Amino acid sequence: CGIVGYIGKRDAYPIIIEGLKRLEYRGYDSAGIALYDGENLNISKTKGKVSDLESHCSKDNNKSGQIGIGHTRWATHGVPNDVNSHPHISNSGNLAIIHNGIIENYEALKKALIARGYTFQSDTDTEVLINLIEDIQIQEQVKLGKAVQIALNQVIGAYAIAVFDKNNPDELIIARLGSPLTIGVGENEFFIASDASPFLEYTKNAIYLEDEEMAIVRLHKDIKVRKIKDDSLVDPYIQELKL
Ligand code: GLU
Repeated sequence: CGIVGYIGKRDAYPIIIEGLKRLEYRGYDSAGIALYDGENLNISKTKGKVSDLESHCSKDNNKSGQIGIGHTRWATHGVPNDVNSHPHISNSGNLAIIHNGIIENYEALKKALIARGYTFQSDTDTEVLINLIEDIQIQEQVKLGKAVQIALNQVIGAYAIAVFDKNNPDELIIARLGSPLTIGVGENEFFIASDASPFLEYTKNAIYLEDEEMAIVRLHKDIKVRKIKDDSLVDPYIQELKL
């Protein structure tokens, strides 16, 4: 189970694929990637290895985009198959999520969302979370970061997540509780990963997110880190990695 994300000027595909390979040691059963090419959000995912995802993508040819998120899954809810692989998208098709961890109260949240008209393709807890975020975004008319924060305050469980919104394509929202997450800070580009190995060749500057923190990673802006519970701002400590 690993997470890699990129937002910047380079092609995201090779960075994410190579990054996922470096996280293979963490163990996984499926892999997937979402890339935004400036117009469409293209998702490729498959049961199996990162190399299987690569062959899948060479058939699909959806490899362009300078923003993207990639995932290796260790199934906890729903068998390992293509549909249950991440990324998962919201009902509108606008939001995409990758998630490591478990949403323990997903059944109650799912029931409530189904009662509100939401439908689900997969058996995962993760697809519940992304639709909960979308529902909050629509109902409360808040920005994505706020919707993610409100949703996480309703969630019991553990997570490292990255969320992308097609309507706000120059930012990624990330958060962690119980699963590691690191931000690589480059010049007008940012990397997100479960550990620093996917981005070490590009930047040695890293922010290690703490438990119960979330961050808005936005192009041409400073990274904003907040406490998920009380919304207080955290001064992000940028560490210089000596490797
Ligand atoms: N609970 C999620 C799922 O089963 C994420 C598993 C993981 O950590 O990779 O899809």
